[in-house]
Amino acid sequence: MALALDELLTQSAALHKHLCPRQVLGVRMGLQGGALLGLSVPQSAKRLLTIVETDGCFADGVSAATNCWVGRRTLRVEDLGKVAATFVDTQTGRALRVWPRHAVRERAQAYAPEADNRWQGQLLGYQRMPVEALLTWCEVRLRADVALIVSRPGLRAACDHCGEEILNGREIRRDDQVLCGTCADRGYYELCYSASSLTSVRSHDPSTVKAPRSSIQR
Ligand SMILES: [Zn+2]
Ligand SMILES: [Zn+2]
Repeated sequence: MALALDELLTQSAALHKHLCPRQVLGVRMGLQGGALLGLSVPQSAKRLLTIVETDGCFADGVSAATNCWVGRRTLRVEDLGKVAATFVDTQTGRALRVWPRHAVRERAQAYAPEADNRWQGQLLGYQRMPVEALLTWCEVRLRADVALIVSRPGLRAACDHCGEEILNGREIRRDDQVLCGTCADRGYYELCYSASSLTSVRSHDPSTVKAPRSSIQR
């Protein structure tokens, strides 16, 4: 395990040109997630789905350890601003959430007495701490069926309102309409221009311009 940890930390650091305590946490969480589910990591297939609760260095550590990536559709970011991750066996639906123990920053210092500062203490301590001292975990139940979360690549639909293409079964069916998440009011942005200027933006294809969103039947 010590060698594997070193190798994974080297890979994670290569993505960033530096190694930092959060990458170490991510790598150790990824290793633990695989171990708890009995899945060997880094995985070569796509059986393990990982949901990280923040982005940044931590997430790349998790990816290095698990080989779960956004580009492979095996990593999701649910941005709750937490250094935590849930590891899902997509074959069984079993899900385990892993997060750092309370006051882990302080506890790490005892494992790195030679460290010059707290950051160094975390960097080294997180690598040396027994997993039970570093992490907590518990079984969780996903709110959506794992098959729906993974979805099927290759599915395509078109939004009845904006006309844009929707991949992987992410459309929302409301009454007799097929809507994208944005037009169904689940989007993360609002348009900066009115429906009339939308016409000029999309004037090359007037058939795609529909009524303003407020007129959608709900
Ligand atoms: Zn970093
Ligand atoms: Zn739409």
